[in-house]
Amino acid sequence: MSEQSVAIISAGGSGIGLAIAQSLHELGYQLFTVDIDPHHVAEFQRAYGEDSARVCDVSDPHQVDEAFAAFRTKHERLDLLVNNAGIAGPQGALEDLAVDEWQRTIDTDLNSLFYMTRHAIPLMKAQHSGAIINMSSNAGLSGCPLRSPYAASKWAAIGLAKTWAMELGPWNIRVNALCPGSVSGPRIEGVINRDAEARGMEAADIRRVYQRQGSLRQFTDPEDIAAMVCFLAGPGGKKVSGQAIAIDGHTESLANWLDP
Ligand code: NAD
Repeated sequence: MSEQSVAIISAGGSGIGLAIAQSLHELGYQLFTVDIDPHHVAEFQRAYGEDSARVCDVSDPHQVDEAFAAFRTKHERLDLLVNNAGIAGPQGALEDLAVDEWQRTIDTDLNSLFYMTRHAIPLMKAQHSGAIINMSSNAGLSGCPLRSPYAASKWAAIGLAKTWAMELGPWNIRVNALCPGSVSGPRIEGVINRDAEARGMEAADIRRVYQRQGSLRQFTDPEDIAAMVCFLAGPGGKKVSGQAIAIDGHTESLANWLDP
């Protein structure tokens, strides 16, 4: 890279975001992250420097404004934005979901994409280049029983990627959505445990069902997602835009085992 490339990854201090950050760092990117959890921010700062991370709730537009203002004091360019932060949201039948849980999930998983991306666009337009990645899910391709606000947000993440690809393509800005299947790690274990509770089943049985949802019969690893981000950000991805790319071992169904 002639000039050092710069990437913002929301929630880059844990899970999938951490794997993405590590891979981009190996490629020579300068990194910046925002995360609601001060421990994740502190870990990121230890790895990538004091100015590389900021505590920020991405569901709060004012906090996002402040985080980007801090970013702009250190960086004049932005090559890659990965809208990765997200929560699993409540698990349960639609009629049992609480309104505040619905809203919190939509604010975090959907509205934050708007709050973040609108700050990235002027920088990328000025450069006449850039890549934006919205972290969707296989739930954004097929729906996901008992997780309505999550599925709605993840469908919207794809809709926004396709819409922004059209809006921003003339400025050589590419926008894609990634759709991981169940990713190994603590988050999926939490989802499994809550699902087991909601259905009155053993967690081990639920885990087996989740792994059988894909043709490969295995969870995706965070490094698999990171590899795709690097591909999309690099020369191989330079004509890829407006796509929803599944990294899920080919999900056959998220619902065919759901009996009443
Ligand atoms: P994770 O739970 O391991 O990490 C989520 C991170 O987001 C944490 O660092 C947390 O502190 C941060 N965060 C949560 N709410 C926030 C907020 N309001 N503002 C800022 N930061 C916030 O999650 P993960 O598994 O690494 O998932 C990352 C993304 O991938 C999410 O968008 C998720 O929906 C998506 N995804 C995950 C899976 C999976 O199985 N893990 C599958 C498909 C898609």
